[in-house]
Amino acid sequence: MPATIDLTNPSARPARPHAPKVADGMPTLIGMSRDEMVEAMADAGVPERQRKMRVNQIWHWLYIRGVSDFADMHTISRDLREALAARYTIARPEIVEEQISNDGTRKWLMRFPPRGAGRPVEVETVYIPEEGRGTLCISSQVGCTLTCTFCHTGTQKLVRNLTAEEILSQLLIARDRLGDFPHKDTPQGAIVPAEGRKVTNIVMMGMGEPLYNFEEVKKALLIASDGDGLALSRRRITLSTSGVVPGIVRTGEEIGVMLAISLHAVRDDLRDELVPINKKYPLKELLEACRTYPGVSNARRITFEYVMLKGVNDSLSDAKELVRLLKGIPAKINLIPFNPWPGSAYECSDWETIETFADFVNANGYASPIRTPRGRDILAACGQLKSESERMRKTDRLALEAMMIAGHGAD
Ligand code: SAH
Ligand code: SF4
Repeated sequence: MPATIDLTNPSARPARPHAPKVADGMPTLIGMSRDEMVEAMADAGVPERQRKMRVNQIWHWLYIRGVSDFADMHTISRDLREALAARYTIARPEIVEEQISNDGTRKWLMRFPPRGAGRPVEVETVYIPEEGRGTLCISSQVGCTLTCTFCHTGTQKLVRNLTAEEILSQLLIARDRLGDFPHKDTPQGAIVPAEGRKVTNIVMMGMGEPLYNFEEVKKALLIASDGDGLALSRRRITLSTSGVVPGIVRTGEEIGVMLAISLHAVRDDLRDELVPINKKYPLKELLEACRTYPGVSNARRITFEYVMLKGVNDSLSDAKELVRLLKGIPAKINLIPFNPWPGSAYECSDWETIETFADFVNANGYASPIRTPRGRDILAACGQLKSESERMRKTDRLALEAMMIAGHGAD
């Protein structure tokens, strides 16, 4: 059985370096750019000539040491810590639930306080450990405005965009829980070396369309890749989009991370149906944006995600057309076995069909790994994330488990 830990019960919280507290509605320093933080220092009464230096110190405490309480910032005077704590918070959001799959995949349900007049929102984040790396799958929105027909998130209306702080908090919480930050009593400088870290990669493939929340996603990813802080290489950060063409060039120019495209169909009529944003940005425009993606090269290929739907997009002629379409684009193809959810209208392609498709694409020079579904027992797979506001009923959950047992001998 997978383990579920109710983290709202304090006695269930294992000891960890920085116990999270519910953020209390104050403005937060997490997610601020360095320039914004300089202004926050001014606000807290720091003399102008010291502001940059203080920001560097705080940046180190927040993103290298992972502290979530001003009191732990030992290199900063008590007066300044108090002045900051009176105006700002650096507390973590609440973790409502942590689930650990039989295969080591972890899923956290986090609750973020309301913004303005809204209600608190809940967001899922998934960690997938693999040989030699660990990937964190981060959400950018609660729900999604788009309605891809095979995606569970697409059945949920957009509740709201996440802020840069909330996007970044998903990474900070994962690092807290996985022990990727040093214990607060470790001497200064004794940080977790990059090669020993659990979270080595991040993918913007959780809930939501990241390019419909561009500014906040950009802010969060620039902080995640800042060399004096969390220091994740931009080559280890992948942003997945359903094909918001104007956001693609901006992603390359302004964020510089790796790109993944949810392609899923090779003809406009079918893609209009599966990924309806195709009506606005059809295949020709989408592929042109990929061909000219800033920084694209054989060493920095674009990933094309392709969900395998039985009898819908999985024929050999689809595979041939795929190869033809991608000609001239440095690409790899990621075949995703469809993950069913209750009420979904599709079935996953047979294993032989997926292999035949993969073999053809491979033989034509494209790496085309088949993504192994992970964390199925905790519903952590792609396209299955859905927030607490519309949680699955127990009967649905049982029906889904039965579907998985019946339909997937392959993994
Ligand atoms: N909105 C972005 C990122 C989130 S979805 C996007 O669409 O790219 C991450 C990936 O999971 C996308 O490729 C998406 O199409 C795919 N996906 C969604 N539902 C799925 C399902 N039920 N089974 C398999 N993959 C799915
Ligand atoms: Fe939104 Fe991506 Fe799901 Fe489409 S696949 S509905 S864009 S989350």
